[in-house]
Amino acid sequence: MSLRGEVVAIGDELLHGALLDTNSKWLAGALERVGVVAQRFTVTGDDPALCKEALAGACERADVVVVTGGLGPTLDDRTRDVVAELLGGPLWFDEASWQQIHDWLHRRGRPVPESNRRQAMLPPGARALDNQVGTAPGFAVRVGRATLFAVPGVPREMQDMVQRHVLPATAALPGLTPTAHWWLRVLGPSEAALGERIEAWMVPGRNPAVGITASGGLLTVRVVGTAATAAEAEAACAATAAELRGLLGDWLFAEGNADLPELLVQQLTARGATVALAESCTGGQIAAQLVDVPGASAVLRGGVVAYSNACKTELLGVPTALLDQHGAVSEPVVEHMAAAIRERLDATFGVATSGIAGPEGGTADKPVGTVCFALATAAGVRSWTLRIPPLGRKFVRDRAVYEVWRALLAAQRAPTD
Ligand code: ATP
Repeated sequence: MSLRGEVVAIGDELLHGALLDTNSKWLAGALERVGVVAQRFTVTGDDPALCKEALAGACERADVVVVTGGLGPTLDDRTRDVVAELLGGPLWFDEASWQQIHDWLHRRGRPVPESNRRQAMLPPGARALDNQVGTAPGFAVRVGRATLFAVPGVPREMQDMVQRHVLPATAALPGLTPTAHWWLRVLGPSEAALGERIEAWMVPGRNPAVGITASGGLLTVRVVGTAATAAEAEAACAATAAELRGLLGDWLFAEGNADLPELLVQQLTARGATVALAESCTGGQIAAQLVDVPGASAVLRGGVVAYSNACKTELLGVPTALLDQHGAVSEPVVEHMAAAIRERLDATFGVATSGIAGPEGGTADKPVGTVCFALATAAGVRSWTLRIPPLGRKFVRDRAVYEVWRALLAAQRAPTD
């Protein structure tokens, strides 16, 4: 059985519409990988009464509660006080945490304000979780039957603390059944068509569980299995994945338990291959997502956002005549872009995108959602065009990026020269 998790994100700024709560999404994914399935997210402002209500409810329902935010040094950072109130005892001063905060600020030549002492106060029975990328220590404490982890709101501080403290502590909790997961990535069918194809596997209560998530045209078949040991859970997922693989056929373009850019970086690295990008409609999104992956420097040579025709001509040498004759969104133009960037940056693969993301700019010939792609290798250049459903600029661009992952991953399975 998996443990039940809840995430409580605290901060007025999360309720004003200006800041999206991305921490809960990240936390749910991280917890699921150690076998804690999120049942509910709560986003609440800084008001202590609301925080208390949110935390009390979460601790009654869940086995593991992760609270993000409200650990700063100012008076509106109330997570510690609220948890102490829930536990019915006073905060205590943790000398070791204070020393760490002091040293952290001191090493950076910063003053050590007295107000930072608040960050070294912990609820009764709490264990401090040290923060290596900021000042606010987190803490772990038992509240009723739940284990509560309080971590900072700043995403990189939160992620570091969760990886170093929360996940190992959670994985050691009693009652946690080893869990494994496997993702099968699909492009092509509608969610309904995919659902029909694999419906016999999507029955409630099945182990491994099989479900579908959709994002920007990409469909992911998620296989999550639990067993007595991690190895058995992995074997069960592999067996289900093998059954599904046969049904998915050409729709399936990648699988594993890593994100697509991560998978691509792994595969390119293993092959010693590199990539160079000439992005028009994707506006640097491909490069940005690759750069998010640690180790991307081994595989990404670089790229240009060749958005205007002038840039396509000046930086990539696309002839004006080609642009005039075929238009910027055309296979001959992307072919030229891909080949030019590959050659200039001496990469194994050159990739180019050019399309009409909308809402303006579509024509009868090339409606909004038309995106041309090209992939250049030592063997030559290949281009193709997709008519992506015009469901908004973001959808079209996201779908175009997925198409590039698909093409590059497929290219890893083919010889390059
Ligand atoms: P600090 O010591 O830096 O004040 P904190 O734990 O008090 O840490 P908050 O003050 O709540 O954290 O948040 C700091 C910043 O972190 C916010 O302004 C926001 O930019 C980001 N942040 C906070 N919570 C979230 C969240 N749930 N999702 C995404 N970003 C968040």
